[in-house]
Amino acid sequence: MTASESDCLFCKIVAGEVPATIVRESAGAVAFRDINPQAPTHVLVIPRAHHPTVGELAAADAELLAEVLREAHQVAVDEGVAGNGYRVVFNTGAQAGQTVFHVHAHVLGGRGLNWPPG
Ligand code: 5GP
Repeated sequence: MTASESDCLFCKIVAGEVPATIVRESAGAVAFRDINPQAPTHVLVIPRAHHPTVGELAAADAELLAEVLREAHQVAVDEGVAGNGYRVVFNTGAQAGQTVFHVHAHVLGGRGLNWPPG
């Protein structure tokens, strides 16, 4: 484990060292409720493996990124928000609002979502 991984909040959730409300698990990914939800459904889907951003995950393991996206869609189905519409967001980099540098898909739904985003 690298220094950044041993210090990574989401790696600690994967390892069970930090509690989270997990809603789905697959071989390569974990989905859990955001601690500060911005919509009735707000779930984060992360790869178990540490990759800082979606671009780095895409370059390193495109199949794992596909698994994260399949899990994100299944979360929306399970939460009952797929029919009316939901949003999948990867904040990438500090200016885009990324605060945790272990790639995560935000799955947001259950209310109308404005566009453009803030
Ligand atoms: P970002 O700003 O990096 O796109 O998203 C990070 C997300 O992680 C935020 O929505 C924030 O509320 C969530 N978050 C931060 N710390 C924790 C935590 O300890 N547990 C959970 N479940 N979510 C967290």
